[in-house]
Amino acid sequence: LVVGTQKFHRVADYIAELVEKKRNRRMDDPRFSICDTEDETGSVETIRDHELKERQATAFVSIMQGCNMHCTFCIVPRTRGTERSRSIPEIVREVRGLVASGVKEVTLLGQIVNLYGRHEFASVNGESPFVQLLKAVHEIDGLERLRFTSPHPVGFREDLLQALADLPKLAEHVHLPLQSGSNRILKAMHRPYTAEKYRSLVRRIRQTRDEIAITTDVIVGFPGEEEDDYRQTRDLVEEIQFDNAFIFRYSIRSDTPAAAMEQIDEQIKEERNRDLLSVVDASAHRANERLVGRDLEILCEGPSRTNAARLMGRTRTNKIVVFEGKPEHVGQIFEISVTQANGFSLYGTPLVPTSSPVSA
Ligand code: SF4
Repeated sequence: LVVGTQKFHRVADYIAELVEKKRNRRMDDPRFSICDTEDETGSVETIRDHELKERQATAFVSIMQGCNMHCTFCIVPRTRGTERSRSIPEIVREVRGLVASGVKEVTLLGQIVNLYGRHEFASVNGESPFVQLLKAVHEIDGLERLRFTSPHPVGFREDLLQALADLPKLAEHVHLPLQSGSNRILKAMHRPYTAEKYRSLVRRIRQTRDEIAITTDVIVGFPGEEEDDYRQTRDLVEEIQFDNAFIFRYSIRSDTPAAAMEQIDEQIKEERNRDLLSVVDASAHRANERLVGRDLEILCEGPSRTNAARLMGRTRTNKIVVFEGKPEHVGQIFEISVTQANGFSLYGTPLVPTSSPVSA
């Protein structure tokens, strides 16, 4: 069975078909294998059912598929196709259903989420389709927190900044991929912004809310990256003081333009990767240290991944907090007193007695 990315919704039926063939001992006959990799109109609306776990309070909602940006290192435009967006009423219906099942926090997902709907829907009163969607979802009673990921620096306009300032359910966290701090490398990556524009956007995002967290993605060792290019990236990352960052060592994706460019030495990539990680770890640690002694709202998601005897939740700024709790904490929003921090997590004590029910 081979299916394309626009055919996920057909997998169950195809498997049933193949099981039937196996039962009839026709499985090894290549005439009966299934290969369906075509584009399918409307497939973007087909994945919307959720299997929620008990007390699950967070969920991801896909609002669009595909990407038209053609970054030279990325295979997504080839594998996922061109941008296709779901309608606002469909997305609102899905989020309403999740909230009715107990979900309190929703993350809207798209490859370039802030460019949602740009081919299908018009701007209204200067508001992009994405901001219209944010406002529509924000209206849903019972939804407590709203997130989105990942936006592209291009298209992060005034209306979205205003929405960050105006919509209280929007969590105070923006993941804004930088990729490089060198304009020369950004151009080679086909990322249509400059380091100066990125810096200015970060400044404006920080003006929208007190203590908004900003995280990013950076690629080191992109083809042609000279020491001076890397230095510019390092300086910008140091200057911005991200709350956290994913650092990727460039690796070839076949059939992408960057795969055909002149590659740089693996050893140099490794050194830059380690060096940049140390810069990011230091700023993440500083950002977390500042929260020690504070009382913060968290949404408890369940057992900690590193220690199942403890629970974990996330602050509105998307920082992980690990704590000793009770099963009734799971799926609830409450305050926690932060007592310790490292670069990855915060540790704290819930400010509600664990013997009494936790209110939402
Ligand atoms: S990196 Fe992101 S914006 Fe660029 S082509 Fe890939 S999915 Fe699109």
